[in-house]
Amino acid sequence: MIRNVLSIAGSDPSGGAGIQADLKTFSALGVYGMAALTALTAQNTQGVSGVHPVPPTFVGAQIEAIFADIGVDAVKIGMIANAAIAEVVADILKRHRDVPVVLDPVMIAKGGAALLAADAVDALSRRLLPLAAVVTPNLPEAAALLHEAEAKSREDMARQALALSKLGPAAVLVKGGHLDGDESPDVLASGGTITWFEANRLPTKNTHGTGCTLSSAIAAEIAKGLPLAQAIASAKDYLAQAVAAAGQLSVGSGHGPVQHFHALWADNEGVRK
Ligand code: PLP
Repeated sequence: MIRNVLSIAGSDPSGGAGIQADLKTFSALGVYGMAALTALTAQNTQGVSGVHPVPPTFVGAQIEAIFADIGVDAVKIGMIANAAIAEVVADILKRHRDVPVVLDPVMIAKGGAALLAADAVDALSRRLLPLAAVVTPNLPEAAALLHEAEAKSREDMARQALALSKLGPAAVLVKGGHLDGDESPDVLASGGTITWFEANRLPTKNTHGTGCTLSSAIAAEIAKGLPLAQAIASAKDYLAQAVAAAGQLSVGSGHGPVQHFHALWADNEGVRK
């Protein structure tokens, strides 16, 4: 049976991040993708020039419409924009605790634009973290959630992953992409146990939407029934290949998108030959 996965996230009209990345990832990994929008952004590969949040009641209406009709096998939460949207999303998902939630606590875009209101970190932490099967912060996001300095070492990362577990999520994946050095390790804290996922840093500027893509891939693999650690390993493998193949695309002059369909398109020009 083909699984259904819902993304609750913002729109990136340039197609590399947000719900566009989520739907591409779901499609590439063989699950049926759905998307409830929290915000429109105006952006390209060079940065974000505008953010237009959806009224919170209408975010709720979109999610309620899906749950009223469609079986949801996993939810991915991305850009949540503000505290009122966090509250509405939490109120609904609290009634669907059987559905695993992958929470990407999106806060700041690569170019520095705020994708979460400053006063919304607390609502996200208090209302959404406890609903997550796994939360996937990068180093600045982990630091913001804990009101601590950013991790500079593996020891810091492991300690912060365990500290975030205490805020209620079943598991925490702290992503080490912002560490200095050639390695880019991620650490999973789950049930008090620490697991490392090793990776070499890929020399590329095509990293737009990598966080969105990873969290969506984890949600897709969980929906298909993989246990969490395997879902993460599989998602990281998918993302690494998508980053490695990003050069096939010609999209903008800034941080380009990853090639979500690297395994499906026969050649660099896609299926139109
Ligand atoms: N725009 C939207 C709508 C997003 O949800 C995200 C996700 O993190 C981003 C932009 C971030 O993009 P980038 O990977 O370039 O930081």
